[in-house]
Amino acid sequence: MKKLIGDPRLVVEDLIDGLVRANERLRRIADHPAIVRADAQALATAGRVALISGGGSGHEPAHAGYVGQGMLTAAVLGEVFTSPSVDAVLAAIRFVTGPAGSLLIVKNYTGDRLNFGLAAAIAKTEGLEVEMVLVEDDAALAGGGRIGRRGLAGTVLVHKLAGAAAEAGQTLSDVKRTAEQAIARIRTMGVGLTACTVPIAGKPNFSLGEDELELGLGIHGEPGMARETLQPADQVVTQMLDKILAEAKCDAADDPVVLLVNGLGGTPAMELAIVAGFATSSLQRRGYTVARVGTGNFLTALEMAGCSLSVMPATDQELSLLDAPTTAPAWLVLTTPGQEISVELPARAVDGPTANGPFLSPEGAVIVRSVVDCVIDCLCQSEDALTELDRQVGDGDLGISLARGARAVEAELADKPIDSPAQMLDRISRAVRRSMGGTSGPLSAALFLGMSAHLAKVTSPATPSDWATAFFKGVEAVATIGGASRGDRTMMDALLPAADLLVEKIEQGANPASAMAAAAQAALTGTEGTRDIIAALGRSTYIGERALGHPDPGAWAVALVLRAVAENLEKTGL
Ligand code: ADP
Ligand code: MG
Repeated sequence: MKKLIGDPRLVVEDLIDGLVRANERLRRIADHPAIVRADAQALATAGRVALISGGGSGHEPAHAGYVGQGMLTAAVLGEVFTSPSVDAVLAAIRFVTGPAGSLLIVKNYTGDRLNFGLAAAIAKTEGLEVEMVLVEDDAALAGGGRIGRRGLAGTVLVHKLAGAAAEAGQTLSDVKRTAEQAIARIRTMGVGLTACTVPIAGKPNFSLGEDELELGLGIHGEPGMARETLQPADQVVTQMLDKILAEAKCDAADDPVVLLVNGLGGTPAMELAIVAGFATSSLQRRGYTVARVGTGNFLTALEMAGCSLSVMPATDQELSLLDAPTTAPAWLVLTTPGQEISVELPARAVDGPTANGPFLSPEGAVIVRSVVDCVIDCLCQSEDALTELDRQVGDGDLGISLARGARAVEAELADKPIDSPAQMLDRISRAVRRSMGGTSGPLSAALFLGMSAHLAKVTSPATPSDWATAFFKGVEAVATIGGASRGDRTMMDALLPAADLLVEKIEQGANPASAMAAAAQAALTGTEGTRDIIAALGRSTYIGERALGHPDPGAWAVALVLRAVAENLEKTGL
C-alpha cells in the first residue's frame, strides 16, 4: 500500500480536519464525524429545509464536498466504506434541523439505511420533522429483491436537485418529492479497471488482470456482476448504456437526459473526457437529446480506476435546479452539448502556396525521392530505440514523435510529384509542423523550412553545393529558434559539426556520398560526446547528472538519419 496519509486508523479524522481547515464555510460538530455549513443554525431559524447525507468515507469528494449553499447542509462521515454511526447522524440532525425540518438523502445499503433510519426515528420522537429518501440508482442489480438497488453516483444529482429546491424555499414535502422523482428515474452503471485498498486493510480486496475489467461494480471495492476482457472505451460505453437504458425504461421520445460521467478516483480526466464523448454520441445516435453532461470525480471508490455512467431524464424544472448556483466546492458545473462540434478556419488563416524554385531533372527527382524514403524508413525503424533513449533522459516521446512526423511526410508526398526541392521541403516542413509537437517538432520544421528557403533562391537546378549550403542554413534556422549551441547536450551537437563538415567536404570537391559519410561520422562523434555533458537545454536538464552516460536522443536521431542518407547516396553511386 502506498498512500499519502498519516496513521491509517485516523484517516477519517484527518480528512475531516483537512476539509474544515481549508474552508471557512464549514464546521465539524465537536466529537462527531459530521461536517455542517457554518451558517446551518441561522438557516434553520430562517425556516430553510436542511439536507443531510453521508455514508462511508472513501467516496470523496462525496459527500462532504457537497456541503454548501444550494446543496447539502450536513454530511456525516463513517469510517472508510463503513456507514456512520446512529449517533453521528443524530448529532447532525439535531444540529441542522429547524422548524422546516430536514431531509436525509441516503444511499441504499443496509448499514446506511439502518443508521440513518434509527437516527431519524429517534429525532422524530424528539419532535423534529425528519424525512428520508433512499437512492437506488444501480442498473447492474435489478431492483425488486429484498435488498434493492445500490446507491451510486446518481446520489450526487439528488443532492443537487434537492439542494436547489431547498435553497429556493420549498417545503420539506416538496423537496422530498423532488428527490423521489429524480431517484425513480436515475440509473447508473459502473466499470472498474483496478481494485482499491482500504487504508486500514492495507491491500486490495480483489485483483484484476491487465486485460480485465469488472462490469457493474459498486463503490466499495467490491467485485461487479461480470468480469470481462478489456475492450476499447466506445464498446464498454455502449454495453453500459444498453443496460442503463433498459433498466431506466426511459424512451428517447421522453424528456431529454442528463449524463453523469463519474470517475472512480483513479481515472485520469483525459479518459473521463473520452468516455463522455463516446457516451454523449452514443445517446444521441439512439435518438436521445442530451441536455447536460457532468464529467469528473463526483463519487469515487478511493483510487479505483474506472468510471460510472448515470443517465437521468430531466424536466425543464429539474434542469434549472441542476443549473442553479451552489457554493459546494465539489460540484462541477454541468455542460450542454452543442449542435456543432467544429468550426472551419477562415481562408485567410490557412497556409499560402508552397515555396517554389528550380525544378529537378527526372533522374534528380528519383534520387531525391529515394533519400526522402530512406529518412522516413530510418525514423520509423528507430522509433522504439529513440523512445527508449528519451525515456531514460527525457519523457519518452521522441521516437514516437519523429516516426509520426515521418509518416505524415510520407502521406503528404505520396500523391505529389517531387518537382522542385524547395517546394518539397516546404511541404515536408508543413507536414512536420502539423503532425509533430514537442521540441523536436518545431525544430525539425525549422530545419526543413530553412533548407527550402535557401533552395527557393537558387536560380538553376540545385547542385550538391546548393544542397550542402541548404542543410547548413536549415541548421542555422534550428539554432536561431532553439537557441542551443554546441555543448548544450541537444541535437545541435550532431547537426552543427555535420553541417560544417558537409559544406567543407563538398567545397573541397568530395562526391556527395563521401561528404555525407564524413558529415554522418561527425554527427556520431558529436552525439557520443553528449554522454559526458550535463544538459543546459531541453528536458534532460531536469535530471541533471542522471543523464550522464546516455547520449542525447535528439542528437542520436540526427546521427542515425545522416548515416542512412550517406548509405543511400553511396548505393546510388553519387
Ligand atoms: P520534449 O522534451 O518536448 O519531449 P522531444 O522529445 O520532441 O522534446 O525532443 C527531445 C530532443 O530535443 C532532445 O533530445 C534534444 O536533442 C532536443 N532539444 C531540446 N531542446 C533543444 C533546443 N533548445 N535546441 C535544439 N534541440 C533541442
Ligand atoms: Mg521527449
